[in-house]
Order: sequence, then structure tokens, then C-alpha cells
Amino acid sequence: MDPEPLKSLPENWSKAVAIVAHPDDMEFGAAAAVARWTGQGKEVVYVMVTSGEAGIDGMHPDECRRVREAEEIESARIVGVETLEFLGLPDGIVEYGVPLRRTLAEVIRRHRPDIVLTGNFRDSFGPGALNQADHIAVGRALLDAARDAGNRWIFPDQLTDGLEPWGGVKAVWAFGSPEGRHGVDTTDTFDQGVASLAAHAAYIDGLGWENWDPREFLESFGRQAGQRLGVTFATTAEVYSLTWGGDDED
Ligand SMILES: [Zn+2]
Repeated sequence: MDPEPLKSLPENWSKAVAIVAHPDDMEFGAAAAVARWTGQGKEVVYVMVTSGEAGIDGMHPDECRRVREAEEIESARIVGVETLEFLGLPDGIVEYGVPLRRTLAEVIRRHRPDIVLTGNFRDSFGPGALNQADHIAVGRALLDAARDAGNRWIFPDQLTDGLEPWGGVKAVWAFGSPEGRHGVDTTDTFDQGVASLAAHAAYIDGLGWENWDPREFLESFGRQAGQRLGVTFATTAEVYSLTWGGDDED
């Protein structure tokens, strides 16, 4: 059976905020799409909920935080992202709930994006590939927060010093979801995506995957997605539309 064709993600927007749990979450597949969009003149902001400080077994979190923040800043720069924030929540034990929704609603109200980007937050990436707790908590909370941000009676204490409700988020796009039905052509920006992932040198080294190559990894997924979109390389995303009846068919 041929794999299901992907629909192209719309590109009639001007600002996106990527909200993910960890440094490296955008780079395992989504960064080349970001490079495409920043190359079109769109603005993309990165927001890291944690600094991934519990991510390297042989490195204390205090040092790890500094190393991983620096790697992420470089990763972001490579794909044209200039604004990057670290929210400083504790890596590995991020909890879904009202406090996280509050934090993310404030981020969305400040940045006023058309689109919110994140990673897959379903229970798995596919058969046998369990997802990670922080990814699930962050994705679920930001889906709620994208709506909370537009309601002035939710978290009203934030609406001071000129901060206003923001109901302009059209959709949340979750990269790498096993339910992804949409795709982005990343053929022209594929190398930037590879460089962006390779910038996580200390992290990749700490994983201890022998002979693991960022280019080979991204090529294998990128080619599969590309076939479904009719191009050389692509990235897939699941679309959660926040406009009733919206289907992002364009
Ligand atoms: Zn992660």
C-alpha cells in the first residue's frame, strides 16, 4: 500500500512561536521547515519550557543548562530564529495543569503568533516508540493555552502593563506526530536543518549513540515524508485547528 499523500501546510501567515519542552526538540525534524519560513521573511520565535538540564547523564544539571542553552541559541541562529526564551521549568518533571497553561498563555499573549509550533505530544511516535512525559505535558497545555490567551477572563491578572488577550492563533502544528497529514517541503533548507541538529554536539555526544549521524537520521525521515508530498525532503505535522470548521485546506 502506498503511504498516504500529505497536504501542504499553509504559508499565508507571518508569525509563529515554537513552544517545546527541550533544546533539541525542534531540531529532530522541524528546523528545516523553520529555515524555509524565516527565508520567506516570516518571524519564528523559539520558547524552551526547560533548558534540558537533565539530558546528559555524565554532566551535572548546572553545567548542562549552560551548555544546552548555548547549543540551542546556535541551532536557532542557523535557521534564522533570533528571539529565543528559556522559561526555566524543571527538565523531566514538567506537569500538565493550570500553572503550565498560565505560563504558556502569557507567552502567547506577549508574542501574538498566528501559528504555534510544537513537537508530537501523542503517547507515542508510532508502534514501540513511546513519547516522553514533558513533550506530552507541554503539547497538551499549549493547545489549551492557545485558547486561554484569547479570553480576557482567564488569567486576567496577566493583563497589566499593556498586555492584551490574543485570540489570533489559528492552529497548533505538532511536528513528528504519527497522525501527521500535512507536510512542508524542506528540500531547499535541508542542510540548514542538519546543521541545526549538529549544533547539539554535547547532547548528541552524551546520548552515546555510536556512529549516529544527524544527516543520515534526518534524511531517512525526510525522504519518507518527501515521497508523500512529492518532493525530495519534507517534514510532517499534525494540524490542530483553533478556528471552528477550519481545515487548513489551502
Ligand atoms: Zn525533548
